[in-house]
Amino acid sequence: MQITRRRFLAATAAAGTLLPAGARRLWAATALDLGGGATLETLSDGTLVLPASFVLGDLPADAAGAILAAAGLEPAAQFTAPCNVTLFRDGARTVLFDAGAGRGFVDSAGRLPEALDAIGLAPEEVTHVLFTHGHPDHLWGILDEFEEPLFPSAELVMGRLEHAYWTDPATAETIGPMRAGFAAGAARRLEVLGDAVRLVEDGEEVLPGITARLTPGHTPGHMAFAVGAAGGQALVLGDAVGNHHLAFARPDWPAPSDQDAAAGAATRAALLAELAGSGVPIVGFHLPDGGIGRVGRGGAEGGYRFIAA
Ligand SMILES: [Zn+2]
Repeated sequence: MQITRRRFLAATAAAGTLLPAGARRLWAATALDLGGGATLETLSDGTLVLPASFVLGDLPADAAGAILAAAGLEPAAQFTAPCNVTLFRDGARTVLFDAGAGRGFVDSAGRLPEALDAIGLAPEEVTHVLFTHGHPDHLWGILDEFEEPLFPSAELVMGRLEHAYWTDPATAETIGPMRAGFAAGAARRLEVLGDAVRLVEDGEEVLPGITARLTPGHTPGHMAFAVGAAGGQALVLGDAVGNHHLAFARPDWPAPSDQDAAAGAATRAALLAELAGSGVPIVGFHLPDGGIGRVGRGGAEGGYRFIAA
C-alpha cells in the first residue's frame, strides 16, 4: 500500500472571499492508495479551538505535561484541533465522510467548499455523504447559506441510532446546557433533509466495500466506517479517537468531549488495541498532519501513539 502526501494551494479567487487580501490558504491533504483505483484522502474543513479542560478533563498536570510533551505539545489553555473531512474515490463513487461545519458554527471551520474547489471537485460530483455523527463540525456543513443541500446529487447516510438521537425532541432537554445548541442545530438540519437521509445499522455494508461500525460514547450512535478495496483497507474513525495525545496515551481516560465518557473510553480502548495489532490505517477527523496514519504501541504512559502517514 502506497502512502503519499500532497499539498494543495487554494485558488486565490476562492480563498480571497474569506481571507484578507494577499493571504493564501494552504490545504494540507494526505492520500492513501487502497488499490484497484480507489483512494482515500483528507480535505481540511479548518480548525476548532478547544479549551484544555474540554480535551484533558481532570487529568493531573504532571501526567498531562508528559503526554503532551510526547506528542510535541506544551500545556496550554486551548488546543487547536484540525478538522479532516475524508474523501473516498474509486472511479464510480465520490464519497465524503462528514460534511464539515458550514458557515454558522465557528469562524475557523467551514472551509470544505474551498478545499473541494482547490482540488477541482464540484459539489455536484459528490455521490454520497456518510455521517459519522451529528455534531456541528461534522453535520452542519451539509446545508449551504440558502439552507439547501450543499451536495445536490449526493445520497446522505447516517446511523439509525444517531439519527434517532438528534431528531428526538427530548434530546434538547437531556443533552445538557453545554450542548443544547448542538441538539437544536442538528434537529433543524435533519428536519430540512427529511427522508433524504438513508439510515443504516451497525455492521451494514453501506456501499460496496464500505461497512458501518457502531462506535458509541462520543455520541450515542457514532459510526466509524471500514473502507476496503482490492488492495487495502482503512478505518475512518470520526471522533471515536478525538486527539493524537491523551486519547492515544490514555484511551481509558474519560474525555469531556465524549457525551458518555465511560462508553467513549471503552470504545476507544478497544479500537486502539485492535488497530495496534492489525496495523490497519486510520483516518481521524481531529488528528494532525491530515489525519491519516496508524496506531503504534509504546506511547506516553505506556499507551499508544499516532504514527502519521
Ligand atoms: Zn464530535
